[in-house]
Amino acid sequence: MNFADIALEEKQRVLRELSSVKADFAARGMFAGTSGNLSMRVGEFQPDSFHFAITASGKDKSLSTPEDFLFVDQSGKPCETTRLKPSAETVIHCEIYRLTGCGAIYHTHSVFNNLVSEYFGDRKSVPVDGVELIKAFNIWDEEAHIDVPIVSNFADVPRIVPEITDRLESRIPGILLRKHGIYAWGRDGFEAKRHLEAFEFLFEYAYRWELLKAIR
Ligand SMILES: [Zn+2]
Repeated sequence: MNFADIALEEKQRVLRELSSVKADFAARGMFAGTSGNLSMRVGEFQPDSFHFAITASGKDKSLSTPEDFLFVDQSGKPCETTRLKPSAETVIHCEIYRLTGCGAIYHTHSVFNNLVSEYFGDRKSVPVDGVELIKAFNIWDEEAHIDVPIVSNFADVPRIVPEITDRLESRIPGILLRKHGIYAWGRDGFEAKRHLEAFEFLFEYAYRWELLKAIR
């Protein structure tokens, strides 16, 4: 599907939805120091052909401006003439879309996601046992156990991608970058947000649980 064949109103809907999520997350202090990025897909999906809107690089995410987002294709290349640069981490979004066909990806840095990614870093996953909120991922087993994958973080972002390809798990809609942040996704913006919030809750829980175990 060509970018030009995707209806304008669909593109506008996606930009509007991203704008409102961005304002909501910014108000909650989830974009410390301009970190983090958001993306949402438009049009049809094929693993080798898709398009999405993503936050432009280096902008203050607490402001709403005409320079907040741009559209890119499956290789992270802008679809339209623009001076805006896609986020440096766009290649990670490209790979997650390619592997999952999801509709939206939200990435944030938080103290808790950084702490657990380092604490469980050598284990390469964060274990969570029997917490009710695991159901947010549509995992309904009694006393469910999940392991949230952790991958290495490199300054050279494309080096992170092969590990994501390797480690992404279809039933877990998120992946942690060690001492960096979480990528969470869903079939649409609503689901991606639910997953992101559930991950953050579970990371804080995992952190505090380890602390409790250490002092009792
Ligand atoms: Zn990041």
